[in-house]
Amino acid sequence: MATLEIRDLHVTVEADNATKEILKGVDLTVKQGETHAIMGPNGSGKSTLAYSLAGHPKYTVTSGTVTLDGEDVLEMSVDERARAGLFLAMQYPVEIPGVSVSNFLRTSATAVRGEAPKLRTWVKEVKEAMSELQMDPAFAERNVNEGFSGGEKKRHEILQLELLKPKVAILDETDSGLDVDALKTVSEGVNRVRESGEVGTLLITHYTRILKYIKPDFVHVFANGRIAASGGAELADKLENEGYEAYTKGGPVSG
Ligand code: ADP
Ligand code: MG
Ligand code: MG
Repeated sequence: MATLEIRDLHVTVEADNATKEILKGVDLTVKQGETHAIMGPNGSGKSTLAYSLAGHPKYTVTSGTVTLDGEDVLEMSVDERARAGLFLAMQYPVEIPGVSVSNFLRTSATAVRGEAPKLRTWVKEVKEAMSELQMDPAFAERNVNEGFSGGEKKRHEILQLELLKPKVAILDETDSGLDVDALKTVSEGVNRVRESGEVGTLLITHYTRILKYIKPDFVHVFANGRIAASGGAELADKLENEGYEAYTKGGPVSG
């Protein structure tokens, strides 16, 4: 069973010629089949955690460990992390001019699976996944994220998730900017992947509304660069009623 283990993770970024510590000792274990929600105020470091796990070069790990099935993730390149089974759906997906969705998906699948998917089954696979996500087939020929609406970007992220079948999926604010219908469609996509029982999901969110559609097994409050409290789904209800204030006192919160 795949397990992602984060131990006492400290991460800095360079900003305005200064080194700023953003993650201040994150501890978290995500096992295949589990869904963890990470909830916290803006600027608490949630995206920094996601980027650090994915290997973004802007984020420097100064101490701590991250392992996937005992393998040192921090030693891996971005590509190696993807091949090892880590997947990140970004809060702000980037445009890739000149690369069609169709080419992008096939290249990604080839990289992750270690061989090109068989064309006939692949085309069917993509078509079905797109239809389930209520995406127009013509979408496949558009350039990645170029001129996509917020909802289209998020659907495209979940399309990748469904096709790449990672061991651990990090979904950074997949709910942001979605209307209720899009939120439902996107959540259903995430739930299809979860139902396989083969993926561990780290659902990063600011709001509780997505948790009405995706039921987490564990909820963690993220504040000031670390996990301030952990509990079950009931913790999300508590946050909905009481906000984050109780967890952010005594430390600066920006953003
Ligand atoms: P969240 O996702 O919880 O809103 P972020 O991880 O995006 O929080 O940001 C946490 C803090 O780190 C903020 O103060 C933000 O300005 C800072 N930060 C994050 N990424 C960078 C970066 N690439 N350069 C400079 N500062 C950054
Ligand atoms: Mg520490
Ligand atoms: Mg963020």
